[in-house]
Amino acid sequence: MASTIRSETLAMMGYLDASPSPYHAVSEAGARLVAGGFRAVELEEAWPVGSGGQLVERDGSLVAWWAPDGTPPDAPFRVIGAHTDSPNLRLKPRPDTGRAGWRQLAVEVYGGVLLNSWLDRDLGLSGRVTVRTERGGVAHHLVLVDKALCRVPQLAIHLDREISSKGLQLNPQQHLAPVWGVGEVHEGDLVRFVADELGIDAGDVLGWDLMLHDLTRAAFLGANGELLASARLDNLCSCFAAVRALLDVAQAVESPASAPRWMAGAGPVAICLYDHEEVGSESATGAGSVLLASVLERAVAARGGDRDAFLRSMAGSVCASADMAHATHPNYSERHEPGHWIEVNGGPVIKVNANQRYATDGRTAAEFALACERAEVPVQHFVTRTDLPCGSTIGPITSARLGMRTVDVGVPQLSMHSARELCGADDPARFVHALRAFLTPPSAA
Ligand code: ZN
Repeated sequence: MASTIRSETLAMMGYLDASPSPYHAVSEAGARLVAGGFRAVELEEAWPVGSGGQLVERDGSLVAWWAPDGTPPDAPFRVIGAHTDSPNLRLKPRPDTGRAGWRQLAVEVYGGVLLNSWLDRDLGLSGRVTVRTERGGVAHHLVLVDKALCRVPQLAIHLDREISSKGLQLNPQQHLAPVWGVGEVHEGDLVRFVADELGIDAGDVLGWDLMLHDLTRAAFLGANGELLASARLDNLCSCFAAVRALLDVAQAVESPASAPRWMAGAGPVAICLYDHEEVGSESATGAGSVLLASVLERAVAARGGDRDAFLRSMAGSVCASADMAHATHPNYSERHEPGHWIEVNGGPVIKVNANQRYATDGRTAAEFALACERAEVPVQHFVTRTDLPCGSTIGPITSARLGMRTVDVGVPQLSMHSARELCGADDPARFVHALRAFLTPPSAA
């Protein structure tokens, strides 16, 4: 068991390191699904009728679904939702700037960044560029500059004597522009650099979605390596777990000899990895979009179902909104609800908020607790202090959009929204086990 957990964690670390942008998170997830026998299709095209898993990649989002042969069109889905984006620094449309002999990059803050965590780190660049094609259209290239390209230098303590008494004060417009060299600033420098990296003509680059990432790799931490430090645990840990769980379930049905018997009876399953959760989910590919609803309706139609069959299917479906949870911080334990402390390596967390910042209710909490029981992993219960506001997830949005019962769950961590976060090394694998049990409820077995 211990070695299975460790190899699952190592696989997740590879995914974390390879996915500095939502576009990479989607591309890496898609590659793993295709390697597992899933077929990539486009939203704009008619989909082939037939069995097996399929997936759609749409900018920074991905939907994948699978149903066993002979599934009735109105059969309910088990769904896992997660998000591909993480708070970070993103390049402005005219990124070339500088002062006092430094060449700098103009950046915007994406989402709720813990700004201090981005200071004095060696940063790389990732995302995608959109280029003109020979035929007059546009095409995308993924960009990954995984070397020390720039850095947001902190002010020396000698020039900020009040930092000890007043704390670090950062103005996002003034204090976050990274340096990436010295000398004269020329408009187009950054695009020329990226075009050179890609081996394309800078004049063909018409648009870009580029962002910065910390170069430090995911690493085990602690006296016995029982912790895991990495960028983007929130929420690539859940994206990885969702992909693994989906692949395991599809594999279990297609090759039953190699899987636990209880997994062999799955009904239709789907995962949706959304972009833009950190900025409110209202976009063409966010949880507020029609993406998942339209894909699932078309998946039902491909099995011969009409709209009524789709609505019947949604009425019986259940979604696990998978997103990271807050572990109890030893230095700030008073910020946590004293009757609901959360431990790392204590198993997945079910998140509850009476005001529906989380979509969980007693019924869906029970569904997930049952899944953990069947997967033989412990489960924990989180609620925020009554005198503190509660964060939210894609759970309530997906649930409202699809009318689908939903439970909010996740792996506990510290330092959420830092450039480098921290969780238990055993929890991601346990989360995979719990999610695959969730995807294969006993009624389907
Ligand atoms: Zn999150």
